Amino acid sequence: MFAQIEIKDPIEKVVEDWDYLNEKVLKHYSTFKVAGHNIFGLRRRFISYANGMNDPKKGNISRFFELGPKGVSEGTNDPLNLRITTAGTPHRVAHNFGYWHINDKDELYIPIPSASDDEMGHYVVVMGLPKGCETDSFAWYCEECGTLLYDHVIETGQTGLAGFWKGEREAVNRYNLSPHLRHCPECNHVNPHGYCWNKAKDTPEEAAARLHW
Ligand SMILES: [Zn+2]
Repeated sequence: MFAQIEIKDPIEKVVEDWDYLNEKVLKHYSTFKVAGHNIFGLRRRFISYANGMNDPKKGNISRFFELGPKGVSEGTNDPLNLRITTAGTPHRVAHNFGYWHINDKDELYIPIPSASDDEMGHYVVVMGLPKGCETDSFAWYCEECGTLLYDHVIETGQTGLAGFWKGEREAVNRYNLSPHLRHCPECNHVNPHGYCWNKAKDTPEEAAARLHW
């Protein structure tokens, strides 16, 4: 794992106090980074019992949802509420990414609060690196009746992480530019636009959708 991380200091200087949550190390994981068989993400976020989880740019991203055999279930990203989304389970985080993510690896999430609610804590995400014919998919279900509207599948076992981010953008573009996809064929509900994980490139429509769901 260390071999894949570039640092400015000579290795002799940092090897004794290697620290994933050190600011200099953290930035390498601010999106996702492949390390061996795993994908890691490390994010600075406010994590408290009073206010849940807050991203400085996205606001409150406490509420997460999973789609299972009994329908949609909801949970919250509370301090040290360690959770696992098992492979194959459609899941999303409100205001964080505007699609249901479905993948072939388990995902582990650990919200680590700071000693004080005024300081940002750390949010740790670990998941397996897709291999072979495994995929990631970006899906939308009708928010009223749960009908699958669109499922954009990327063979990330072949493409790696680069394929994930490119595929995410393609999926959101296609869904947003196709009114017929957002129009539910079962209940006629017109569903909101999708949006990507990275807020920086939100279109006005995507920014509005991010506030909505
Ligand atoms: Zn519907």
